[in-house]
Amino acid sequence: MAETIFSKIIKGEIPAYKIYEDNNHLAFLDISPFEKGHTLVIPKKEYETIFDMPEEEFTALVTIVKKIATHMRKTLNCDINIWQNNGEIAGQEIPHIHFHVIPRTQKKKTYCLENKQHYDEGEAEEVAKQLTIT
Ligand code: 5GP
Repeated sequence: MAETIFSKIIKGEIPAYKIYEDNNHLAFLDISPFEKGHTLVIPKKEYETIFDMPEEEFTALVTIVKKIATHMRKTLNCDINIWQNNGEIAGQEIPHIHFHVIPRTQKKKTYCLENKQHYDEGEAEEVAKQLTIT
């Protein structure tokens, strides 16, 4: 599998606002969030989609996704979307399996690429601090 931008984040070659890390997993803020706090959860091993991942490792990943979502829900007092794309036609941009964990605070908002948000100076750091699980 070709190296993606996520592998570079894992190796620390490009920066990211990390909120959780263990030996096998990493969670960090999406650079272009649907809502602020939008987090990507990935395994450190390079698998492209859920179909490439051994069952046990997939189960471990989902457990981490729930841990991140549980903490986010409590910390931001929000509802949560968990979202996951497999394959280009399904909207997968980065071919390294990842779950999106997205805080929902605005009921009416519909999600499309045009209404992605950006962080102001210093804002991502603050959000990451709030969401970090040690
Ligand atoms: P996908 O469409 O593959 O399910 O989601 C890929 C996500 O990765 C997108 O939401 C996009 O904003 C995010 N992303 C792309 N490049 C970077 C990056 O360099 N850093 C971070 N933190 N997120 C990225």
